[in-house]
Amino acid sequence: MVLQETHRGDLPPELDDPLFWTAIGQFDGALEHAGVGADVAEVLRYPERALSVAIPVRLDSGSLGVYPGYRVQHSSVLGPTKGGIRYDVAVTLGECAALAMWMTWKCALLRLPYGGAKGGVRCNPRTLSATERERLTRRFTSELLPIIGPQKDIPAPDMATDEQTMAWMMDTYSMQVGYAVPEIVTGKPLSVGGSALRPEATGIGVVTVVEEGVRRLGWALRGSVCVVQGYGKVGAVAAHELAARGARVVAVSDIAGGVYNPEGLDFQALDAWRSEQDGIAGFAGAQDVTNAGLLELPCDVLVLAATEGQVTGDNAHRVAARVVAEGANGPTTLEADEILAERGIVVLPDILTNAGGVAVSYFEWVQDIQRLFWGPDEIRTRLRDLMRDAVARVWALADEEGLSLRRAALVTSIREVAEALELRGIYP
Ligand code: GLU
Repeated sequence: MVLQETHRGDLPPELDDPLFWTAIGQFDGALEHAGVGADVAEVLRYPERALSVAIPVRLDSGSLGVYPGYRVQHSSVLGPTKGGIRYDVAVTLGECAALAMWMTWKCALLRLPYGGAKGGVRCNPRTLSATERERLTRRFTSELLPIIGPQKDIPAPDMATDEQTMAWMMDTYSMQVGYAVPEIVTGKPLSVGGSALRPEATGIGVVTVVEEGVRRLGWALRGSVCVVQGYGKVGAVAAHELAARGARVVAVSDIAGGVYNPEGLDFQALDAWRSEQDGIAGFAGAQDVTNAGLLELPCDVLVLAATEGQVTGDNAHRVAARVVAEGANGPTTLEADEILAERGIVVLPDILTNAGGVAVSYFEWVQDIQRLFWGPDEIRTRLRDLMRDAVARVWALADEEGLSLRRAALVTSIREVAEALELRGIYP
């Protein structure tokens, strides 16, 4: 809270957004330990470039909708910028700036040759038809043409965007240059140059980090009680993967609410229910629980795989988990982070825990450029090795310097980027 208030005043007004305060608060906290030069730190506080557009879309009704869209590139020091595109009612420039900064740290932490970016369109994707979403995506892509490219900035899916969205983006870009350019986006369907395991990558990565994390804390994932907020692209895969590795997943939720069974959920039955009912609420094999109630269920591991700002100063006192794993970006506020730390709850931070998605995006881009594709076993092994290596480096620094895992992850990333920036120097 104090940090948020302090930093709010320092920020350029266009970036004045609660999520950007969180990102800057974390950055400034980590700087105390990172030992990087003041000039370099000042450069890394702000996004390098931001584009703001208005996207006119002919709606099925014949009327016209105009939607604000953004793309923010935080840092190109280590390579082209990389990050998702989201369609959501809460998208702002400041939100994209925070998420772009986190992408920089995420890529640096995994030693991927990328900087961070993020973009989005402020709209309610649930009210748009498939044809409206296609027109929105194609027009947004053409507005982005001056700043994206396979060696400049490579988009990917994020909230409410998917493989089909990426196929439309790839097609729109390819039509402009006159030939197929699969490496312009990642998260594509396999048939247009996607990668094996990309859809599952974030969820698998989350569980790899949880497994490694709890092992280092001296217990095992097998038999642990887990709660997963979010049952979408990340949460559903994480829940299935946790169950497959022997954990007891007792509760999951989607936007409409959650379901809870202390004996453990039967995912086959739950998924059958979900495809019939278009949601999980009311599932007969469990009792309903609200999203707020789900966060307070007693468990060993609470996976936050929904959206930002879920654990806050208001509810962090009531979180009853031993470990909180951030599958979403920014689900824990600065104030909540302090409360969880005081209560001895270990937070597996987003830039480490959900980095499996961008890791396999990197594999997809490499495969596209080589025009040579790898099988799922190879991807799974490479992903596991990358994630385990990052966990080991973060844990070692946290132990050595007495830091929280979030701070250790940020310090590791900031040092990687700062070293490259020092060596490259400030142009001209
Ligand atoms: N949107 C995802 C994230 O937040 C993936 C980004 C990517 O694959 O480039 O990490």
